[in-house]
Amino acid sequence: MQELWTIGRILKWTEQYFKQKNIESPRLDAEVLLSHILGRERIYLYVHFDEPLEPTELARYREAIKQRVQRVPVAYIIGEKEFMGLTFRVTADTLVPRPDTEILVQAAVERLRAHGEAPRFADIGTGSGAICLSVLHFLPKAQADTVDISPAARAVAEENAAALEVADRVTFHTGDLLAPLAGQCYDAILSNPPYIPDGDIAALAPEVRLKEPRTALAGGKDGLDFYRRLTADAPANLKDGGFLAVEVGIHQAAPVAALAVPAFSRTEILKDYAGIERVVIAWK
Ligand code: SAM
Ligand code: GLN
Repeated sequence: MQELWTIGRILKWTEQYFKQKNIESPRLDAEVLLSHILGRERIYLYVHFDEPLEPTELARYREAIKQRVQRVPVAYIIGEKEFMGLTFRVTADTLVPRPDTEILVQAAVERLRAHGEAPRFADIGTGSGAICLSVLHFLPKAQADTVDISPAARAVAEENAAALEVADRVTFHTGDLLAPLAGQCYDAILSNPPYIPDGDIAALAPEVRLKEPRTALAGGKDGLDFYRRLTADAPANLKDGGFLAVEVGIHQAAPVAALAVPAFSRTEILKDYAGIERVVIAWK
């Protein structure tokens, strides 16, 4: 008799297969993909190890495995990513929100609380909307404008705004950095812009380099192109006492803070969970 594809057996098989293919977290990826296809939490898998899969479930799971070994990020395969405890829909048109970016969100939420009940902020290069929509979630009276150059990303961010029930407090713009916000004044401008130096792109993991949008990553020769423009232009859109808060890549905090010095009165640098300088805040 042929052995049945039970949950336990297929997970073990996938873990081995992913390992052979140099997938970084073979077991976790196998579990996330399978629990998604079964429409269950991951814990379900552990209490139903001996349960066989339906042929349709097995077929869908095989398709997901095939995509994963072609280096499609898990978040794109299942169509979502958790960020700040919230679920964001993501597609190949949006960067997958990173845990590091939660530092920027926490810093912004804390500082915006000092700007009254209903602060106004902008999120530049919003992608899936991860930054903007989570700040709106945690500050229930805040209002925001977002800008992204990608209309496809904007469509995803709009869906996320509706799902997170903050759509009535956000206006989406398609365009280049601060250009669509001329004449507007904010308590804060937030951004996780593309910041990978051109020469470092080839060394990124294939999941990032081949599958995430290049317009979300490439920051010019030294990775600082977007910071040059944001630090020069943001003060015109900030209230007195307002701030620009940006995520930065490794070794970029000091040069970005230096770019902000001429136009801002004070800068702060915050570290991420790994101790890497990750966020620069510049106060007008
Ligand atoms: N904010 C999201 C996050 O943190 O997960 C996405 C950040 S991703 C690193 C940068 C975003 O900036 C991308 O969505 C990209 O489309 C957008 N972008 C690139 N160039 C831009 C420009 N000139 N003006 C506005 N947005 C731009
Ligand atoms: N943090 C992303 C990475 O390391 C880059 C995102 C960005 O350029 N802002 O792949």
